[in-house]
Amino acid sequence: MKLGYYCASYSCGKINYLKVASNNRYDLKGEIGTEFNERCKHCGKHTKKHINRLHGEMNTTVLLIAVAIAIAGTIVLWNIGFIASPVTFGIPALAWYNERKKVSDFNKLMID
Ligand SMILES: [Zn+2]
Repeated sequence: MKLGYYCASYSCGKINYLKVASNNRYDLKGEIGTEFNERCKHCGKHTKKHINRLHGEMNTTVLLIAVAIAIAGTIVLWNIGFIASPVTFGIPALAWYNERKKVSDFNKLMID
C-alpha cells in the first residue's frame, strides 16, 4: 500500500506519495504524528496536512512481484511435469486481495 496526498498549491495540485511502515492511522500517528509536513515532488512547495487527509492506494509493485512469482512458479511446475496449478494463479489473486483489503481498512479508519 502507498499513501497519497494532493499538493496544497492550487497551480500544482499533483499527487504525492509518502513512504511509511504503518498500515493504519493509529500506527501512522505514532510513526509520523497527527500532521505531516512534506515537500511536493512536483513543485517543491511544502504541504502541511492532517494524516486523515492521506488516502491509501494499491501498490502495483507488490502485485507485479506476485505475478512474477506466479509465472516463475508456473515455469518450475511445468519443468517438473506439472501443468499450472490453481495455487500459482492464486498467488497474485491473494496478493491483490490482501493489498485491496489493506487499502480499504486504512481508508475506512480515521483518527480523532
Ligand atoms: Zn506541488
